Amino acid sequence: MQQQSALYLLDSYLRSCEAEVISVKEGRQVALDRTVFYPRGGGQPSDTGKLVRKSDGREFSVVSVSKAGGEILHEVSQEGLQPKDKVEAEIDWERRYRLMRMHTAGHILSAIMYKSAGILITGNQIDIDKTRFDFSMENFDREAFQKLIDEANAQIARNLEVSISFLPREEALKVEGAVKLAAALPPEIKELRMVKIGDIDWQADGGTHVRNTSEIGRIVFLGAENKGKSNRRIYYKVEP
Ligand SMILES: [Zn+2]
Repeated sequence: MQQQSALYLLDSYLRSCEAEVISVKEGRQVALDRTVFYPRGGGQPSDTGKLVRKSDGREFSVVSVSKAGGEILHEVSQEGLQPKDKVEAEIDWERRYRLMRMHTAGHILSAIMYKSAGILITGNQIDIDKTRFDFSMENFDREAFQKLIDEANAQIARNLEVSISFLPREEALKVEGAVKLAAALPPEIKELRMVKIGDIDWQADGGTHVRNTSEIGRIVFLGAENKGKSNRRIYYKVEP
C-alpha cells in the first residue's frame, strides 16, 4: 500500500488540494496520494465534495469517505477515474466547517459534563444539524443539565485557543484522561495527535476542530431522551 498524506490532520482549514489517484477499487473506491477529505470516524461523519480530473475537467462527486485497513477511500458517484489521474480534491466546506464547530463544541461540553457532574460520554454522533451524546446518569434533571450547557457556553465565550501537537506515545499516555482506551492503542502507533483546548481539555484525537472557541458560537440544548433505566441521550446544536 502506497503512503497517503492525510492533510486534514495538519490543517483542518484546507478546503482543497492537488492529488494523484493511486488505486481504484470496485470502480468507485478511490485512494489518493494525499487528501483533504476526512474519513468518518470518532463520531464525526465523513466529508463530501468532489474530485475534478485535471486532464479533462470531469467532476466526480465524493459521496462518502471511509478508512479501511489504514487506507482512506473516497467513494465517488460514478466510475471512470484511473490510477495516475491527477485531480483537484475539494471538500464541501460549509458542511465541514459546521462539523468542525459541532465537534469542538462536543469537546467542551463533555469536559464540563465530566468536571462538573462526573458524567462520562459513552457514545456520540456528530452531525450538521444536531449532535447526539449518550451517557449514563440515574436521575436526569433538565434544569441541572441546562446549567452544564450554560457553563460550556461560558467556556466557549473565553475565546480559547485550540491547538494541535504530536506527542510520543509514552508522553501522551501520561496525560490524564487523554487516551480514552489506552489498552486498545495499537503498539505500532508511536506518536499521537493531541488536541488541546485552552486549559479545559487535552486529548488524543484524529478529528477536525476550529482554531478558536469563538468560532463555535454557542451550544443550544435540543432535548433529552431516556434509553432505559439510567441511559440518557441528549441532543444539541450550535448557533448561529
Ligand atoms: Zn476532537
